[in-house]
Amino acid sequence: MNLEDMKIIVTGGASGLGRCFTQELAKAGASVMAADVDAEKLAELEEVTEGNVETFVADVSNEAQVIAMVEATVAAFGEVNGLVNNAGIFRDALLVKKDRETGALRKMTLGEWQKVIDVDLTGPFLCTREVAAKMIEADTPGVIVSISSVSRHGNPGQSNYSAAKAGLVADTKLWAEELARYGIRTGAVAPGFTRTPILDGMPPRAREKIEKSVPLGRMGEPFEIWQAVRFIIECDYFTGRCVDVDGGVKV
Ligand code: NAP
Repeated sequence: MNLEDMKIIVTGGASGLGRCFTQELAKAGASVMAADVDAEKLAELEEVTEGNVETFVADVSNEAQVIAMVEATVAAFGEVNGLVNNAGIFRDALLVKKDRETGALRKMTLGEWQKVIDVDLTGPFLCTREVAAKMIEADTPGVIVSISSVSRHGNPGQSNYSAAKAGLVADTKLWAEELARYGIRTGAVAPGFTRTPILDGMPPRAREKIEKSVPLGRMGEPFEIWQAVRFIIECDYFTGRCVDVDGGVKV
């Protein structure tokens, strides 16, 4: 598909990778609906971004808000033919941890598990379902890109996040099979550590340790993840697979 023909929703579009995708898509001539929970950051993005960018406040884990987001996109652009499932969070904790001094056990809470599953897995399910339904109803070919993670291979401390990101790659494959008959392609991108605000709270020593573990010796840049998203949108013979963009880190 041509970027300038896209009428595309980017979830989590106000920050980090989503902000980069929104701005690159708009620069290439696409019509972009940037959706996020953060209304202030969305307003700032709309102000500084050139091109056809609209914004919508929506929590991807809220069914009614997702339906409203898709309706608003069709109202704004006449149709929807693209989606980037990018919104994501993490709430890291070990499954069970024993305190060395006190012997007390700390378990990952059901709340920590559920919140990440809700946003990182149920969110893409709801957004993909609603966007695919609109495309099928209008007989519009389209493409759905989902942002997974290198943690999809199973990263200690991330039972919740790893499960969600692996599930998203499995769904990307089966959605490709289910939706091909309607002219809808899918694809996932699994970034490694990438320089975005999600990593802001990380201590410098932890960052250095991570960078040393990457064969290419550094974190990725948002633009390098965008290059994979762009490839999936543009290549009409790509569907159902995951592109790993992680500097070759050992999994
Ligand atoms: P980010 O800078 O935190 O951006 C994520 C955006 O999504 C934020 O604006 C956030 O708002 C928003 N958001 C959070 N929950 C939402 C919800 N329920 N509905 C709608 N929007 C929501 O993170 P990022 O690094 O760009 O991450 C983007 C995606 O890449 C995520 O799926 C992440 O898992 C994945 N990823 C990132 C890395 C990395 O190293 N950066 C690596 C692998 C995969 P708030 O700020 O208000 O929460």
